Amino acid sequence: TPEIQLKDVEMRYPTDTGDVLALHQVSLDIGKGEFVSLLGPSGCGKTTLLRLMADLIQPTSGSIHVAGKTAKEARLAQKYGIVFQSPVLYDWRKVKQNVALPLELVGVSKIERERKAIELLELVGLEKFADQYPWQLSGGMQQRAAIARALAMEPEILLMDEPFSALDEFTRERLNEELLSVWNNIQNTIVFVTHSIPESIFLSDRVFVLSPHPGRLSAVVEIPLPRP
Ligand code: ADP
Ligand code: ADP
Repeated sequence: TPEIQLKDVEMRYPTDTGDVLALHQVSLDIGKGEFVSLLGPSGCGKTTLLRLMADLIQPTSGSIHVAGKTAKEARLAQKYGIVFQSPVLYDWRKVKQNVALPLELVGVSKIERERKAIELLELVGLEKFADQYPWQLSGGMQQRAAIARALAMEPEILLMDEPFSALDEFTRERLNEELLSVWNNIQNTIVFVTHSIPESIFLSDRVFVLSPHPGRLSAVVEIPLPRP
């Protein structure tokens, strides 16, 4: 069975001037351990699709299943980690405390969550910065810390919404390479939203191409291995 399965998903946002049809008849399957990207121009519904998978919003109609559960059950079971476009870190907490935050919320002991935070910071190459504060780090380093935190609960699925688009081209390329090596280590399912064609080809096994007005799935492209 697929890890993520969407059937006939329709998403309308109600507004003052009537409904906006953001997604129309989207059906797709994503396998366990796959790295897929959602690609398309601005407004085609990529973020909407990611939010639906994460159960941050609910579809107008259609169904979403994750690891055999409904999207809501999967969210409650902490199946997801999410990384947004700009890193959401608390500036008054040390980097390691930011990474450990999800563990703190579920009552993991201080020693254990610190051990886990350092392990995750090693995974993203930031262990030397564990005791610094987010505002002391560069934008790329902050986003790496946000990735470490998203992995704290060992999610089966990592959802990423244009995580590197605010960064310069050089940093972005490097972080894409680092992300692949992280993924090689943890082998979870990744859904990566981007409007960059080269980025989607570089990163993913499969590219889901969306078209706007209304957002719908217009192509699924397999990227042949080996990766660059
Ligand atoms: P993308 O991520 O591909 O840029 P979005 O998912 O953000 O696309 O948006 C898809 C469509 O839904 C767009 O037409 C957008 O204007 C509309 N939309 C997104 N969020 C809302 C909202 N909260 N209310 C009304 N319309 C929205
Ligand atoms: P980015 O990923 O945004 O390009 P880098 O990881 O390349 O940032 O950071 C540039 C380098 O600057 C780091 O490798 C690190 O050696 C140094 N650096 C950045 N911020 C700090 C800091 N707060 N303390 C010490 N060194 C830092």
